[in-house]
Amino acid sequence: MREKIVAGNWKMNNDLAETEELLGKLKLQMVKDPEATVMVAPSFTNLYPTFQALKDTPVIVAAQNMHESEKGAFTGEVSAEMLKSVGVTTVILGHSERRAYFHETNELLAKKVQTAIDKEMTVIFCFGEELEDRKNDRHFDLVESQLKESLFNLPKSAWKNIILAYEPVWAIGTGETASPEQAQEMHKHIRTLLEKNIGKEVAENTSILYGGSVKPNNAKEIFAKEDVDGGLIGGASLNAVDFVEIVNSF
Ligand code: PGA
Repeated sequence: MREKIVAGNWKMNNDLAETEELLGKLKLQMVKDPEATVMVAPSFTNLYPTFQALKDTPVIVAAQNMHESEKGAFTGEVSAEMLKSVGVTTVILGHSERRAYFHETNELLAKKVQTAIDKEMTVIFCFGEELEDRKNDRHFDLVESQLKESLFNLPKSAWKNIILAYEPVWAIGTGETASPEQAQEMHKHIRTLLEKNIGKEVAENTSILYGGSVKPNNAKEIFAKEDVDGGLIGGASLNAVDFVEIVNSF
């Protein structure tokens, strides 16, 4: 059985006081044993307080990014060891905002993923097509090249630490969601690619999350699809009631 996962990506929102307020609400709302593994990804400055606040809960704290190098003269960057030193062993890599605004390429992301795997971290790897790609019927090929160039050189053993998050760029923060059928169609395609390139076992065991305007009113329908194993939630994860409702949508 694949792990069901709901992860909240808080992006560049919430200062320390706001983070503490959200965490307090989250702890009040969360049921004791949710069916899904729950993760939240605060900004770097809020990782440690979030980890401390959630220590006695099953919620996993993830970072939103990480540098590919071990250490050194990389002003403004954060390393895997730094994350691990504050209790964080999961990292989101390849988010479309990192790709678009910070020029992260498939090649760079391959290095970041390799570093994370070497450091025994878990990676939530994001990818997905832009609207132009879909309009031109290039979305399947685009997703294939994103996966191929960043992940398909990894050894089979690395895959137990990889979570995939398909996030069509046109659905992120736009209020426009892929239909459950569109999500299922792409997730099936991804699983087939995994089977072809890595093997059947990895294809069956890798969780593939959907991201892009998942809300309490559409999560159930999307999560019900066979190859959708959960979601990566942006906007709706900033509201504890909405996020927990999404967590409980299986
Ligand atoms: P959204 O963001 O839920 O606000 O569309 C999803 C994401 O960027 O991970």
